[in-house]
Amino acid sequence: MGNHILLVDDTPTVRFKYEVLLKKAGFDVDSANGAHQALSMLHPDHDYDLVITDLKMPDMDGFGLVKEIRENSRMHMLPVLMLTGSDDEQDLLTNLDGGVSDYLLKSCGVPELLARVRNLVRMKVLQDELTKASQTDALTQLANRRFGVNLLSEEIERARRYERDLSVVIIDIDHFKKVNDTLGHQAGDEVLVSVSDELRNTLRKSDCAIRWGGEEFLFVFPETDGTEAAGIVNRLRSHLESHPVHVTTNDGTLVPVTVSGGVAELSAEDTLETLVDRADQALYRAKETGRNRLAAWADGQVVPV
Ligand code: GH3
Ligand code: MG
Ligand code: MG
Repeated sequence: MGNHILLVDDTPTVRFKYEVLLKKAGFDVDSANGAHQALSMLHPDHDYDLVITDLKMPDMDGFGLVKEIRENSRMHMLPVLMLTGSDDEQDLLTNLDGGVSDYLLKSCGVPELLARVRNLVRMKVLQDELTKASQTDALTQLANRRFGVNLLSEEIERARRYERDLSVVIIDIDHFKKVNDTLGHQAGDEVLVSVSDELRNTLRKSDCAIRWGGEEFLFVFPETDGTEAAGIVNRLRSHLESHPVHVTTNDGTLVPVTVSGGVAELSAEDTLETLVDRADQALYRAKETGRNRLAAWADGQVVPV
């Protein structure tokens, strides 16, 4: 599939002309008849790589559209190419100052248009790769801690706003140091990757697993109370317990893996720190009382679950 372009122009014939030539060049193109329609198409999980917009439009002009895009944290990195009939130098300066990525006269030739479009799309694709890499843990491909903290703080805000449940669970692999000590660091890495794959496959789409530390993972369960979260992670714990990990070192040794976990449900007084801290304390209790088990907070104390 080609890169995805959103074309914004109030004149149907202009939209048609550009749509045809961009599609011919291999792009996927959607078009909008004005800035408002464009903004409604740029919802949070849009996958556009470039917006090409007309300057003069009746509902909101191209400047207004660019301003809206730049002020929204979910799309402020999106490149915008302004296509206009005006070669007024002041327009050009206002455009570039206002956050337009590139500026082109409608009278320009097709090769120039396509070259500029490809250039902007190439940068956007690189930008996306960098963003992804900065959010991902290189070994396990799970969310990294920095990204995880941002995500958790957004989820806490959302849970508060809509008065929904939210739970977190921290799990930690039991006696993981022994794996490294007896089979080597490489085998330890393989165990971490295999456990992470299992976490990814087990969780629902709305849940998130974060590599919180070395052999520690934090789960965020939106719209889920502590009991439900404990149920999900307990099933995962018991699955891991009955499926030792094959490592390629030492001729395919089977490594038994158990995890301990601590559960905490968001309360009215919680900050991100106190929520995570309570999950940590529960995890500590699960370790203390024998490992390969979960503990949770209930009525102000930690109990087995
Ligand atoms: P416990 O049951 O109390 O959690 O014991 P443990 O041995 O799992 O805990 P400890 O914190 O003593 O050791 C964790 C080990 O995890 C130590 C560290 O070297 C190892 N570790 C952390 N990150 C990585 C990693 O990325 N790869 C590998 N192979 N080992 C790691
Ligand atoms: Mg451990
Ligand atoms: Mg640990």
